[in-house]
Amino acid sequence: MRKMISMQLQEVHALSMACLLANGCDPENAQAIADQTTKAEGDMCQTHGLFRIPWYVGGLRSGRANGRARPWIEHLAPAVLRVDGDNGYAPLGLLAGQKPLADCARKNGVAALAFVKMFHVGALWPEVEALAAQGLCVFAFTPSYPFVAPAGGSKGLYGTNPMGFGWPRKDGPPLVFDQASSAMARGEIQIAARDGHPVPETAGIGPNGETTTDPNVVLAGAQLGYGGHKGASMAMMVELLAGAMIGEFLSIEAAEDDGGEGGPPKGGELILAMDPVRFGDPDGFLDHGEKLLSAILAQEGTRLPGARRMAARKVTPERGIEVPESLYQTLQGFTT
Ligand code: NDP
Repeated sequence: MRKMISMQLQEVHALSMACLLANGCDPENAQAIADQTTKAEGDMCQTHGLFRIPWYVGGLRSGRANGRARPWIEHLAPAVLRVDGDNGYAPLGLLAGQKPLADCARKNGVAALAFVKMFHVGALWPEVEALAAQGLCVFAFTPSYPFVAPAGGSKGLYGTNPMGFGWPRKDGPPLVFDQASSAMARGEIQIAARDGHPVPETAGIGPNGETTTDPNVVLAGAQLGYGGHKGASMAMMVELLAGAMIGEFLSIEAAEDDGGEGGPPKGGELILAMDPVRFGDPDGFLDHGEKLLSAILAQEGTRLPGARRMAARKVTPERGIEVPESLYQTLQGFTT
């Protein structure tokens, strides 16, 4: 069993800041990343919390990621914005893009933000939630590295390419789901390999396309999309929208750019925001949506996406979180 240690969220933030500042981030960039990291730990999304700091630090140390990035925004069309991330990490650029995107969506009914020249190693729900909390309906997409085979193929081509969706609610935080296109997160397969556990046959295939439950064979081969060809098509869509359309890397190009170093993937993100009050039922859409959500919850065994995170968010500020001691030690080593 891995030894765990307890941390308060303030300590998570302070440790993240210390790691980032000691490795080339300026305070503004460090603050934006530390805020995202702390949010992830607070919502018990450990795969995008402190676990990712070594990736952030690795990108800074190799010189690929700009820790002093100054993202800037431009209008490409009346309802299309672009944030140039200045080769930095996504959180600061996402902050820069949020208000202009929301304003543009309110003005036009719909608006899109193409986020380029940045490194995204986080979850999508923070940016989706921030916009949906302002009453907008939101989609977000980002590619990553080529781990997922196309349907029927045997070589990794698509990223694990997540898609996030947000819907405003009448009372309380918005409904948000945020899911990868792959059947299993890569981190979960790596953990299964480390701990000697099998993975489901649906998780991936071996280098020659063979069926396997051995996580090491999947890591040497390719992951599969969720629901077979359906997840693969989702992953393909994300490559086209958040890669080809916005002039950014496909996942295969991100891997070429990285040169096999395995650092954070460079690329883009596309966010679409819609103002629901401009779609013909301004007084009814919220109640109408609630009707669906209530009907879901009326069935035993259901919950809404995001409910697990919201429950965690209520308890972690007081109770704190648990972190593997080995990770804690690694992070302490980055602070000097
Ligand atoms: P999960 O499969 O754990 O969850 C996906 C979504 O489904 C979540 O919104 C979750 O809500 C919801 N959900 C889970 N169980 C239920 C249920 N029983 N009923 C209703 N809803 C449910 O996530 P993934 O492994 O697919 O992705 C994890 C994260 O990895 C995402 O945040 C994604 O953005 C990120 N990612 C980032 C990449 C990058 O390159 N930046 C690449 C790939 C993934 P809840 O959170 O409340 O459980």
